Amino acid sequence: MQSILICGGGTAGWMTALYLSHLYNRVEHRVDIQLIESSAQPPVGVGEATVHGIRHFLQLLSINEAEFMQATDATFKLGIEFINWKKAQNGQTHSYWHPFDFQTPEVNGMDLAHCWLSQTHKVQDYAHSVSISPFLAKRGKAPKFVEMADYQAPIPYAYHFDAGKLAEYLKKLAVRRGVKHQVADITHVQVSTDATVKKITGIDTSIGRLTADMYFDCTGFRGMLMQALESNNQDNAENEWVDWSSELLCDRALAVQTQYPQGQAPALHTQAIAMNNGWRWRIGLQNRIGNGYVYSSQFCTEEQAAEELSQALNLPDNTEFKSLKMRIGHRKQSWLGNCCAIGLSSGFIEPLESTGIYLIEAGLRLFGEYAQSGNLPLIQQHYNRILNDIYADLKSFIVLHYILSDRDDSKFWRFWQTQRYRDPQLDAWLDLWQHKVIESSDFLAQKSVLFNQINYRFVVYGMGHLPQQPFVGVNPPAQQQLLAQMAAFCQQQPDRHPSQMQLLGL
Ligand SMILES: Cc1cc2nc3c(=O)[nH]c(=O)nc-3n(C[C@H](O)[C@H](O)[C@H](O)COP(=O)(O)OP(=O)(O)OC[C@H]3O[C@@H](n4cnc5c(N)ncnc54)[C@H](O)[C@@H]3O)c2cc1C
Repeated sequence: MQSILICGGGTAGWMTALYLSHLYNRVEHRVDIQLIESSAQPPVGVGEATVHGIRHFLQLLSINEAEFMQATDATFKLGIEFINWKKAQNGQTHSYWHPFDFQTPEVNGMDLAHCWLSQTHKVQDYAHSVSISPFLAKRGKAPKFVEMADYQAPIPYAYHFDAGKLAEYLKKLAVRRGVKHQVADITHVQVSTDATVKKITGIDTSIGRLTADMYFDCTGFRGMLMQALESNNQDNAENEWVDWSSELLCDRALAVQTQYPQGQAPALHTQAIAMNNGWRWRIGLQNRIGNGYVYSSQFCTEEQAAEELSQALNLPDNTEFKSLKMRIGHRKQSWLGNCCAIGLSSGFIEPLESTGIYLIEAGLRLFGEYAQSGNLPLIQQHYNRILNDIYADLKSFIVLHYILSDRDDSKFWRFWQTQRYRDPQLDAWLDLWQHKVIESSDFLAQKSVLFNQINYRFVVYGMGHLPQQPFVGVNPPAQQQLLAQMAAFCQQQPDRHPSQMQLLGL
């Protein structure tokens, strides 16, 4: 392979450009990499919260952390707070956290979840009992210390950033590293006239015909290259799109940016606040807040969603929202012939756990591993299978958030209670977890474990789905002592951390 053409200059396109230039040209220039993007079709412009694996990706690409954070108005993210996903109880709004820390549940040979479950009267909710992140966030404290190296910290963290500024920053770096960039509109994708050969033979654009040995489709929901390839193989059932629109109801989003009220500092966590017909995000950057309502068009119109969001954010009547249609599902074959789809062109699961950018990274890393090998059909088959398993795993985890809700105050929430699609694996687990603690062994039969027992515990216990019988601990006094130590640590340790504002120099 001597040349690569990346089509699309959103987050996926520029992450792909940087990753491929790292993969092929780090030591010596081996492959010509070119990226084209349209002037008429802007990137989706959302996707501002991430998961903690992004740190390793940025580090792999030798990106300076402070420079990156400054260029993208980034803040630290310690997790997600879910608000209103259950009915209020005794006048108290329900909320729970899914933090990034607490990746190893054992402390002093004891599992903190066991300790928490064995408490007859729970002093704190699950996340506040086993994780320091909510405490750091509450006090505006950073997960790392000033003197720490890039991407290192005692507490795992991710970022919130400005999607537009991220693409600009990655573009500058990629061009500096030798990626050729051109503004060009794709008008037609040429594919092999032989329907048995899955091959793009050229891309017609506003600046002429472009060809390469390998193509990356980063054209977002349009998936222009993949669509052309697939339509050449209409009778081939393998090329189906896996449609999850009936399993995950939210298919639209409205986004709007707001300013901080005077004196309010950026939060260190994403908020996912349940609404009448979906949920809304609140993502605090250094200089502004990103908000968006992810809703189901089956249950409300755009006008109704806009009104509900306006009310929630106290916005003036004439506020303009960015309106987005989401195609929920994924391609069965994201790598087909000489084209690989990365980003929204490959697939999308709604952004409740901020996983869109993670999926870009996962697709690229997988390509990096597999592209080195020879037998292409076999390699592609495995690549696609692994990616499809990751999508399926993620979909189940997102569905979990909805089916544990007891809300019945709108048609949308009642639908989840009564008519929802039934995921046999999830239903089996939830039955099982009424009788036992969620453990790693429960996931052994899974093909992919993007989310494991640690993540499931935060959501399942956070939503109050606990074993019916009291959990009998092995050593109750020692377990209670450990919980007390943890509580003291969570109270005191934040004193030692610098504030986020201090660390960001704001
Ligand atoms: C409502 C919503 C919220 C989200 N929130 C999150 C989140 O919190 N966290 C997260 O990780 N992910 C999130 N995502 C996903 C995230 O936004 C995407 O994964 C990410 O932005 C990558 O998008 P992309 O680059 O694939 O597509 P796009 O940003 O749409 O880019 C497509 C590119 O293709 C180009 N293009 C299109 N047509 C042509 C043409 N004819 N010729 C040439 N070029 C063309 C465009 O110019 C553009 O450069 C969210 C997505 C949505 C819809």
